Formats: sequence, structure tokens, C-alpha cells
Amino acid sequence: MEDNCIFCKIANGDISSKTLYEDDMFRVILDINPAAKGHALILPKKHFADIYELDQDTAGEVFVLAKRMAAVMKEALGCEGMNILQNNGEIAGQTVFHFHIHLIPRYKEDEIGFHMEGKGEPDYSLDDVQKVIVEGLKAVRAV
Ligand code: AMP
Ligand code: ZN
Repeated sequence: MEDNCIFCKIANGDISSKTLYEDDMFRVILDINPAAKGHALILPKKHFADIYELDQDTAGEVFVLAKRMAAVMKEALGCEGMNILQNNGEIAGQTVFHFHIHLIPRYKEDEIGFHMEGKGEPDYSLDDVQKVIVEGLKAVRAV
């Protein structure tokens, strides 16, 4: 538990929240400023600032829970789709620095503005990008 981390306090029950689900590792809550009806957040009870700090166990379990929540929410809310988002770093839109996954139900004409638009043909080489990442993976495996 990290001092001054609001999601540590919420996840561990020190601050109340609209809890949808809780187990030993996670609490799932409704977002206080929802982008859509049913916008939920999966919070690990352990503090990790972001995906880079996440441990293997939590990383494995969190997506299993996301899948379960998504299926239940689809039925319960009658949404037509679901965006699953996870922001890392200020530039990526992270505002609370305790790892969390957003579950954002989507409805017809909900006017939510985020979609990833391709920028057309890149002005850099995809081969170079592929190489640098593949080399990075090899370096990690070699450790
Ligand atoms: P992010 O921008 O990915 O860090 O997401 C942080 C999210 O946490 C935002 O969608 C906020 O609306 C939400 N949030 C912040 N404080 C609270 C809180 N006390 N209870 C529920 N959701 C919160
Ligand atoms: Zn925390």
C-alpha cells in the first residue's frame, strides 16, 4: 500500500466506492466520472504504478477478470461493445498512477470520441521498427 495513493485506499476498502466485484487480488469499481454508463475500473489491491511495474501473477489474472467482467456487463447493461483501455504515463492519458484497466461499455450513438486512426503510410521504415523491438525481446530473453 502506497501512501497518498487514492486507488490503494479504494482497492483496500479504506475509501468507499461503488464496488462491483472484489476478491483477494482485485476490486472492480464504477468510475466516478464515467465515459459511458457502466464505465468500470479494475484495481489490483497491490500498488503498481503502471504496466511496467506489474508483477507476472497480477498481469496474468487481471485479463482473466477483465474477460469475465466484460461478459457479465454486456448482458447486464445491454451494451453493444466494450473498449478495454489501460493508460501508462501522462502522455498516454494516465491520471491516477496506480495500475488500472478501464472497461468502457459502448452503446449506439454514444458519441465517445476515442478511436485510433491510422496516419497512413509511415515516413519511417516498418522493418527498422520491427528490428528494434525484436532485438529488445532477444535482449530480455538473454537476461
Ligand atoms: P486514467 O486517466 O487512466 O489514470 O484513469 C483514471 C480514472 O479514474 C478516471 O476515469 C477517473 O474518472 C477515475 N477516478 C478518479 N478518482 C476516482 C475515484 N475516487 N473513484 C472512482 N473513479 C475515480
Ligand atoms: Zn496505489
